[in-house]
Amino acid sequence: MTAALALTRRGVRVTVVEREVRVGGLCGTHEHRGFRFDYGGHRFITQSTEIDRFVRDSLGDQLLTRTRSSVVVNGGARYHYPLQLDDVLAKYGVARGARALASYARANVAQRLQPREAKSFRDWVVQRFGRDLYDTFFGPYTEKLWGIAPETISADWAAQRISIPSLNDVVLRLLGVRRPEVRTYARKYLYPRLGIGQIFENFEKEVAENGGVIRHGAEVISVRTSRGRVQAVAIRDEAGEHEIPCDAVLSTIALPAFARMLGSLDREGEASAGRLRFRAIRMLNVLLEGPPVSPHTWMYISEPSYLAARIQEPLHRSPSMAPPGCTSLMFEVPCEAGDAVWSASDAQIYERCMSDADRLGIHGLRSRTIDSFSSFVREGYPIYHLDYGADRERLLAHVDRTSNVITCGRQGGFRYIFMDTAMEMGLRAAEAIEARGARRNISELRVGGGLIEACALTA
Ligand SMILES: Cc1cc2nc3c(=O)[nH]c(=O)nc-3n(C[C@H](O)[C@H](O)[C@H](O)COP(=O)(O)OP(=O)(O)OC[C@H]3O[C@@H](n4cnc5c(N)ncnc54)[C@H](O)[C@@H]3O)c2cc1C
Repeated sequence: MTAALALTRRGVRVTVVEREVRVGGLCGTHEHRGFRFDYGGHRFITQSTEIDRFVRDSLGDQLLTRTRSSVVVNGGARYHYPLQLDDVLAKYGVARGARALASYARANVAQRLQPREAKSFRDWVVQRFGRDLYDTFFGPYTEKLWGIAPETISADWAAQRISIPSLNDVVLRLLGVRRPEVRTYARKYLYPRLGIGQIFENFEKEVAENGGVIRHGAEVISVRTSRGRVQAVAIRDEAGEHEIPCDAVLSTIALPAFARMLGSLDREGEASAGRLRFRAIRMLNVLLEGPPVSPHTWMYISEPSYLAARIQEPLHRSPSMAPPGCTSLMFEVPCEAGDAVWSASDAQIYERCMSDADRLGIHGLRSRTIDSFSSFVREGYPIYHLDYGADRERLLAHVDRTSNVITCGRQGGFRYIFMDTAMEMGLRAAEAIEARGARRNISELRVGGGLIEACALTA
């Protein structure tokens, strides 16, 4: 949508083909009985002044500045997030704290005496935080979130997503000796009054005013290529199957699916496409009567015995997320498309989440419930298996062989990026399409450029 807006502002003719009924993708917001839900609460933070301006210009006074309030629930305790030294010491306890520090010191010394390259997520965390913290927080939660052993997840994921380099750094930051990084410690964030999707609904209006066409409920099913160029995109919508001729294509379709659509994928390419998979999320949205359930927007549930990885209360992001006198909760449950959680009935998921809430000390939700329903995200998190880099490279190279195509975004670039980077990719892609220029580096935008969200361990 960002690319479409940029292009139509410059008079380029654009058709957006969107599989869903609304725009925004993972950043969409849907409404149910006067309540609004994102697909997992989104906060807008960017280091790019260009993207910041782009969004502010479009949203104006509809953009709220919110203060973050998050807790991590572990072992019956609730830790403030970002961590606060007095809070951690009070709740973690002196004996446990000393054990964690000793374990960290052992890992630190071992790494200095015999440096080892961190291949997996587990290596990366143990080397920097010690075994004790890994066993308590990082390991179990990561396995819960990804559904695979942390030993089989690439260290890239930790390196890209955990900005805090080590426990040493955590302590320095907590003592105020080191300056906080932007994302992890950002207490303020921007949020549109009507949910994160409002950004893209606004973009959509302007695209249409500029003469762009947006086709909802239309799925791209294949592309027709000839002489190394895409000539047309085939879509399926309620009217059946038909083709849209084009001069250039910008795709946010998942990289493995799009690489297959372009055809001529060799055996190795096919194997790579099969190995690049996504973790799905099922969200249970619960509409409630009465006052807010807690003061927190995000509650991270790190223990695997609870179904949800995160519980959110959307009202804290914008008062317009629930009607007056009401609130809502969203339970985010990581799963595999088609597995038992994905296929369970709403009633089963509701019962499980309500009994988990009781165990967490959140009581009385059943009697306050007005309604509940699930929303599903099939491609939520790209899974960085140990050799995902080679598979990703192979598929990007395959896409690159077709000259008038750009693949980018979270699924399209198979990169765990935030919305601001996806939007920036859209702007760069729009420029490349207009200039018929270099395209390949777009999916690499901001690699290593301070992707800062220790919370992404839990997000
Ligand atoms: C639970 C969760 C929480 C998040 N929280 C934050 C946050 O707080 N802050 C933040 O900045 N980012 C957050 N993100 C990340 C953010 O959602 C993504 O970075 C962003 O949505 C990526 O945009 P995209 O356009 O690349 O992909 P998407 O948003 O996935 O958009 C892809 C679009 O392509 C469409 N599409 C795919 N295949 C087809 C097809 N064959 N035919 C037609 N249409 C198709 C989809 O319907 C979709 O609209 C979060 C993500 C998740 C899952």
